[in-house]
Amino acid sequence: MYHGVIFGVNGELSNARSSGPHRMATYLREQGWDIEVCDFAFFWQLEELQEFARSRITRQTHFVGIGQLFPVWNTTLEQFFTWLKQTYPDIKIIAGSQQMGLYTSDVVDYYVQGYAELAMVELLQYIVGNGARPRFVLTSGARKIIAATDQYPAYPMQSLMIRYEDRDFVQSHEFLGIEFARGCIFECAFCNFPILGVKGDSTRDSEDFYCQVMDAYDRFGVENYFIADETFNDRTDKITKFADVVQRLPFQPWFTAYVRADLLTSRPRDREELARMNVLGHYYGIETFNRKSGQAVGKGMNSDRLKDGLLEAKQYFDQYCPGRYRGTISLIAGLPHETMQSLRSTVFWLRDNWQGHNWVLSPMMIQKPSEILKPSLIDLDMAKYHYRKMSDDTSVTKFVSNDYPEIAKQAEKALVMWENDHMNIGSAMRFVSWWESYSQQFDFREDGYRMCGVTDTAMSLDQRMQYRKGKLPFQTSVQWYIDKKLSRC
Ligand code: SF4
Repeated sequence: MYHGVIFGVNGELSNARSSGPHRMATYLREQGWDIEVCDFAFFWQLEELQEFARSRITRQTHFVGIGQLFPVWNTTLEQFFTWLKQTYPDIKIIAGSQQMGLYTSDVVDYYVQGYAELAMVELLQYIVGNGARPRFVLTSGARKIIAATDQYPAYPMQSLMIRYEDRDFVQSHEFLGIEFARGCIFECAFCNFPILGVKGDSTRDSEDFYCQVMDAYDRFGVENYFIADETFNDRTDKITKFADVVQRLPFQPWFTAYVRADLLTSRPRDREELARMNVLGHYYGIETFNRKSGQAVGKGMNSDRLKDGLLEAKQYFDQYCPGRYRGTISLIAGLPHETMQSLRSTVFWLRDNWQGHNWVLSPMMIQKPSEILKPSLIDLDMAKYHYRKMSDDTSVTKFVSNDYPEIAKQAEKALVMWENDHMNIGSAMRFVSWWESYSQQFDFREDGYRMCGVTDTAMSLDQRMQYRKGKLPFQTSVQWYIDKKLSRC
């Protein structure tokens, strides 16, 4: 049987077990491959990674995969994969990401961008010698890139099954990733997710969902999930379909999901169906309370109505699901027409109305053209949205280097140093920094997705709900898992 290993690479910002490698492993096993996943690879020592590779790689091993959501990487991983390439030169290294494909290691042979099940089957058949050459996109370096979203679209999928194996050492207190549909029905101007403007029902089969969560519950005792769908409540009938399944479960799960608050506001039935399904961690991509800004990017509900809708939702879920609801309001500093004054009034509204819950504020990012990343409408034509390139970005570059070292590494290559009539990327970042530190004196709590991280000790949902924003003790060594994988315990 052909064999492969997939390394899940998530950094400290996203410290849950990533579902992508396990979804790919499940799909390839259905095609007859033996696939093992190695999670949390970002936190392993070089010697541990080498020991793991030596114990797993055989003549049947044809590829080693790297699966990641965000473009995180470190020196240890670069050393490990360089060593792997030198030690096993015939084994192909394939890196993939559903969206954030900025990975640029020299040792990668192939990069697969987007939902990759079908593309990987094509590529692996080619690698083992009995398949046609896949369609690669042009690239300036030696790497070959498959644009899976365009060339081998893996959506919609009736099955989005993930089956964990005993050798995954899943623990009952973990929160696992899950999908219900792929793509988003909207197309906001700043959004560079790969599949936008989806029409019709693209959801997975309800029994497929039932089997997945029952399997994880029966074998590992897992009850809690984070949903990967771009907009979980895009259709009310979608929520109803899966809420009916949840009602049949012998346990009470908890889900966190990306939820459009304008739909929640205009369709009160969404609230009831989300509560019935136990989708109680809500991440609201509000982006701005400046209506003109919202209109410019495709989120134009009247701001006062939206704020009322958020407060009504909070009241509803706090009443019907006490202690289990967490709402996170996500905002962008620097959208068109946003001013420092409107930003300030937004964060003071949060201070006065949203304590006990969570907020996320990010600076506006405009990407330079990339051979891998899909551009947003703003990336494609920033002048149309009133942005221009800064004439002098020296102070911004310095600020970014000091305060955002991770962003700084990529900024020069990947991001446009933008300005508009109201602010620039530097002042937007400074505002984010100021609000981050000012808000620490208030009672904001950890957000639904962050709560799903792997923590230092086994922690229940109730315990996680108590933590202040940014204070959950995430585990960054995952030594127990590493010892299990290396049969040390
Ligand atoms: S920002 Fe959210 S709602 Fe808008 S297109 Fe992207 S995923 Fe869809």
